Amino acid sequence: MIFSRYMKKDTYIHILLIGEADKLIGLREVEENIKKDFGFPTKTLQSKINPEDSYDPARKQYHSTKILKKMLDELPSDASKMIGITSPDLFIPILTFVFGEAQLDGKVGIVSLARLQQEFYGLPPNQALLQRRLIKEIKHELGHTFGLVHCSLRECVMFVANNIADVDAKGSSFCEGCRGLLRRGRKGD
Ligand SMILES: [Zn+2]
Ligand SMILES: [Zn+2]
Repeated sequence: MIFSRYMKKDTYIHILLIGEADKLIGLREVEENIKKDFGFPTKTLQSKINPEDSYDPARKQYHSTKILKKMLDELPSDASKMIGITSPDLFIPILTFVFGEAQLDGKVGIVSLARLQQEFYGLPPNQALLQRRLIKEIKHELGHTFGLVHCSLRECVMFVANNIADVDAKGSSFCEGCRGLLRRGRKGD
């Protein structure tokens, strides 16, 4: 049985494209990375969620927690976890922006492409760099959904990134300690 090592045979990590996110990214590599690190097969879906409903006109940004709530409302029964990918710039009230947000030890997380793109900083587009950044941030937010908190090791993907230089400087995989916790978290799922 291909899925014999999973606790439940019919659970997937769902990748939810919110808005026009799919035009910006190569999904295959994202899917491969999720499978490899989290040990779940993936399903990719286009969401019906309209990010405009979470728009804050005063901040000209989108409230990520509101989008997470909507994701929970449409969580498929075979979704072990669901990670959203969207283009708008996200925020939570206490921060000027977030690269993403996730429920700690919960079901859903989201990543914004906005500040992962070179264009945001007035630089020419770089698809390969965008891809690397996106994979780091997806692993990071999914790590939170499996109960991982921030890690003090810069080489670990659970290191907290406050700006794009931090995203680029940190590693793209889990450190030994986080990997162990992840393994335990997966068993408890
Ligand atoms: Zn985090
Ligand atoms: Zn770590």
